[in-house]
Amino acid sequence: MKLEKIWLSSPHMGGNEHYFVNEAFATNWIAPLGPHVDGFEHDLENYLGQEKHIAALSSGTAALHLGLLLLGVSKDDEVICQSMTFSASANPILYLGATPIFVDSEQETWTICPTALEEAIIDRIKLGKKPKAIIAVHLYGMPYQVDRLQSISEKYSIPILEDSAEALGSSYKGQKCGTFGSLSVLSFNGNKIITTSGGGALVANSRETKEKAVFLATQARNNTPHYEHSEIGYNYRLSNVCAGIGRGQMEVLDAHITLRRNMHAFYVHFFESFDFVTVLSEPTEDYFSNHWLTAISINETLSQGKNREGLRLALEVAGIESRPLWKPMHLQPVFAKYPYYGTTVCEDLFANGLCLPSGSNLTDNCRTRISAALNNYFN
Ligand SMILES: *Cc1c(COP(=O)(O)O)cnc(C)c1O
Repeated sequence: MKLEKIWLSSPHMGGNEHYFVNEAFATNWIAPLGPHVDGFEHDLENYLGQEKHIAALSSGTAALHLGLLLLGVSKDDEVICQSMTFSASANPILYLGATPIFVDSEQETWTICPTALEEAIIDRIKLGKKPKAIIAVHLYGMPYQVDRLQSISEKYSIPILEDSAEALGSSYKGQKCGTFGSLSVLSFNGNKIITTSGGGALVANSRETKEKAVFLATQARNNTPHYEHSEIGYNYRLSNVCAGIGRGQMEVLDAHITLRRNMHAFYVHFFESFDFVTVLSEPTEDYFSNHWLTAISINETLSQGKNREGLRLALEVAGIESRPLWKPMHLQPVFAKYPYYGTTVCEDLFANGLCLPSGSNLTDNCRTRISAALNNYFN
């Protein structure tokens, strides 16, 4: 019998998603607007707290694009971006004809290094251009150093576009991720902590900003009986059918975070006696990660020949998916020509790091198979 594949992070329905989707069909709200879109936005606003105003969109990437537009980024501006992230964090900078400036990670959280960030800002100003925005990413659910980033943002008056695509349900000092930026971004792609099959959201501080985002996301139609346009618009709104899935997912979000955190605890326990393996974990009690993905780093000088690629291949043979950490953007062929500030922290993490199966739908049987495969490789 062929073993069922164990995935890194697969969709996990709670049960009521069907009910909401059926309701969309029953009421013929099969459109990129409707009661589920409003309801889902409301559910998210309640969940995040902090009196935010949320626009549900077709993807996290769309939210990043509109976020940069709303922060006033345009052609030839410079935008700072964490180098270790998914390409979707950086691509929208190029959509706008702006220039990405990449910054290294730090050891504690693997997210943007505050020291390298400040160095980058000072140098860009010295070279004649103050960066227009900072894209900071809570990586694999781990919050970035919120206090230090906030103070750098204030010191230089540069807004933060908070990429919280991987961190719905994470928090820093008790406040939810997705509420720290001048604007913040969520994603509901199929592999994220909750999914609408595809979708995203922009989190704004005011109703006016949200309305401006919705205006841009619905082809920038002026308020006239005919279609009148005085700005370039986009087709970025979330479908009411997809929003129905999201409403069902919101009912199980916290339960699924607990299950993801249990997967993290399982790996921490497994690797306790391995001095050459680091499991990305909260550095202090200020941090609470949803542990969207559990990620490890293998110290090759201590591991006697064991390494990330060896482990990845051993897991693959056992029908278990794993993936190297995000390859830093400044190492990507498409971004190689842009400036980079920092040392080799994110490059080393990429060379030695692996994401392990972390889904909230993994069973005891899956964990037994994962333990066996890990034991088999390491012993
Ligand atoms: C998934 C992801 C995005 C993009 O979200 P989509 O909804 O897939 O467009 C952006 N940034 C990060 C860090 C992500 O992981």
